[in-house]
Amino acid sequence: VLAPNDLEAWWLPFTANRSFKRRPRMVARAKDMHYYTPDGRAVLDGVAGLWCCNAGHNRDAIVSAIQAQAAELDYSPAFQFGHAGGFALASRLAAMAPGDLDHVFFCNSGSEAVDTALKVALAYWNVSGQGSRTRLIGRERGYHGVGFGGISVGGIVTNRKHFGTLLAGVDHLPHTYSREHQAFSTGEPEWGAHLADDLERIVTLHDASTVAAVIVEPMAGSTGVLPPPKGYLQRLRQICDRHGILLIFDEVISGFGRLGHAFAAERYGVTPDIITFAKAVNSGTVPMGGILVSSRIHDAFMKGPEQTIELFHGYTYSGHPLACAAALATLDLYRDEDLFARTRRLEPAFGAAMMSLRGLPNVLDIRTLGLVGAIDLASRPDAAGARAFEAMDRAFQEHGLMIRITGETLAVTPPLIISEDQIGELVDKLGRVIRAVA
Ligand code: PMP
Repeated sequence: VLAPNDLEAWWLPFTANRSFKRRPRMVARAKDMHYYTPDGRAVLDGVAGLWCCNAGHNRDAIVSAIQAQAAELDYSPAFQFGHAGGFALASRLAAMAPGDLDHVFFCNSGSEAVDTALKVALAYWNVSGQGSRTRLIGRERGYHGVGFGGISVGGIVTNRKHFGTLLAGVDHLPHTYSREHQAFSTGEPEWGAHLADDLERIVTLHDASTVAAVIVEPMAGSTGVLPPPKGYLQRLRQICDRHGILLIFDEVISGFGRLGHAFAAERYGVTPDIITFAKAVNSGTVPMGGILVSSRIHDAFMKGPEQTIELFHGYTYSGHPLACAAALATLDLYRDEDLFARTRRLEPAFGAAMMSLRGLPNVLDIRTLGLVGAIDLASRPDAAGARAFEAMDRAFQEHGLMIRITGETLAVTPPLIISEDQIGELVDKLGRVIRAVA
């Protein structure tokens, strides 16, 4: 039981605070596909926590690995010491990454991974002796976390506008999804490439040799699940190559099986220069993020037998032993249960089940990709976002289902261990919720 003061004391993330105080949504335990409320009610986890618990909740192997690590080596400062788990994890990740992205830098979250990637990209031009490049290009409706770098290249107005001076020299590509585009692009494989040509226009405006890097999510996740139009990522790569610009894929959501592969880069056959990761690297159990970089980038920083460059970046908890142990156990589960290939096998059934909700009241559009689904709802007059908010709240309180919302879009991204029956249950509950908020 919560005392009123307990609710007052926790300053929840800005956007959650008020609604939470009206009707608290509390969880006490989790196992596999479910959360449990303090009074023992099971809630089907339709979002893998927050797109992170890809192996399911409280898996025995991961719990034991964290416990064993905590009893053995609780902490080691990455500036002074290495530890076996950190090296083992780095080489596992390098082996999973596309192309020659074979060096890992660890941090503690997606936001830190993005800021690390941007700093590495900018510093690369200085340390590689190719002349400084200072401009960065992001994308409208891109979400790259909440650090100053991430909100500067990100494209969500409410995440940017109250925070004063952001990074200078940032441009944004137009966003690439609209229902009209989608309809128009059917049978039009060059449409995505055509949209990516905006990059050529932007770099031409500025002199391409001033642009350090372009950052995109392969699939824009948090702003409503916007799959890349066909040919889009491939053309971005071509344009970056033409001008020597670094391409960064923010794979904080799309990494570790969400789209049926270790990284979305593999699904689309495009190798970026830097990949950011976080969330599902250890199934959401211990905060961890990081970046994977190409050997070209790594080598530019590591010239000579001793590090002579005056340059500093790193975190107290970089490569934390508990996070590494959890990640190694998680990667074992992904491999042993073949969860990425399983996601590819489930993708058509999941997509078809989601599409069966077409025609329900207020449903404007449904998109799916891998084990990600999104449903756009029509707004109520003068209350933008209210219908989706009510859907999320009622799903949790009344239908035993956890979903995520952005604006008027409902998103589902279940743990990859979901069974076909549970896909049916999830979509059935979603249908009921949508009818309930009609
Ligand atoms: N990048 C992307 C693509 C994300 O989806 C997120 C989180 N949803 C982040 C970065 C930020 O991650 P974190 O919340 O761990 O800082």
